[in-house]
Amino acid sequence: MTAPSPQVLLVEDEPQMRRFLRVALEGAGYRYLEAATGQEGLNLAAQHRPQVILLDLGLPDMDGLDVMAHLREWCQAPVIVISARGQEADKVKALDFGADDYLTKPFGTSELLARIRVALRHADPGAAEEPVFTLGRWRVDLAKRQVLVDGQEVHLTPLEYKLFITLIRHAGKVVTHRQLLKEVWGGVAGAQPLYLRVYMTQLRHKLELEPSRPTYLQTEPGVGYRLRTEE
Ligand code: CA
Repeated sequence: MTAPSPQVLLVEDEPQMRRFLRVALEGAGYRYLEAATGQEGLNLAAQHRPQVILLDLGLPDMDGLDVMAHLREWCQAPVIVISARGQEADKVKALDFGADDYLTKPFGTSELLARIRVALRHADPGAAEEPVFTLGRWRVDLAKRQVLVDGQEVHLTPLEYKLFITLIRHAGKVVTHRQLLKEVWGGVAGAQPLYLRVYMTQLRHKLELEPSRPTYLQTEPGVGYRLRTEE
C-alpha cells in the first residue's frame, strides 16, 4: 500500500485563480481542497489537516495576516503565501508571522510545484538533519564547519559561516532580513539590512562562480534572501 498523496489546501477568493490552481495541483497528483474565505480556510485546515496551505492575503472576510496568525496557534503545516504585487510589506509580515514562503502573482505552475516540494521536504518530521549539505560545487560539513568548493576548502569568517548555514537551514525558502538579523546577529541593536548586503556580497565572492550573477545565493528584493536549490 502506498501512502496517500499529500493534501494541499488553497485559501483564495478569486474563482479564476482557484480553477488554475486546481488543475495544476490535481495534475501533479496532489489531493486538493479549496476555500473562498479566511474562515472557511481555517475550518478546513482544522478538519482535514492538509500537508501544505496556500494562502491568499487579500480575502473578503478576514485579513490574510490574521488567518496566518490564527493558523500558527495550532497548525505547523507549511504555509505558502500568495500575494499580489504591491503587498510587499504584508508579504514580509506574513513570513515574520510564520509563513514558510511566498509566491507573487502571476506565477507559473512549475514554480508553484517546486515551492510545494520544498515545503513538503522541510515539513517531513522524519527528516533528520543531514550533517553534510551538498549543492552544485559545494560540500558543507556541518559537524566540522568545513566548506568545500570543487573540493577546495574555502575559509569563511564566523559571521559569514553563520549566515551561510542559516540559509542552508532554510534551503529553498526565502528568509527575511529580520529573520537573518535575528538568527545571525542575535538581534544586536544596530544590526541592519546593510550588514546583510555586505556579508552576502562577501559570501558570493567566496562561493559563487559569478558573484554578480549568483546561481544559489539569491536576493529576494525588498524581502530577504533565498538559497536556491532547484533550477
Ligand atoms: Ca484575493
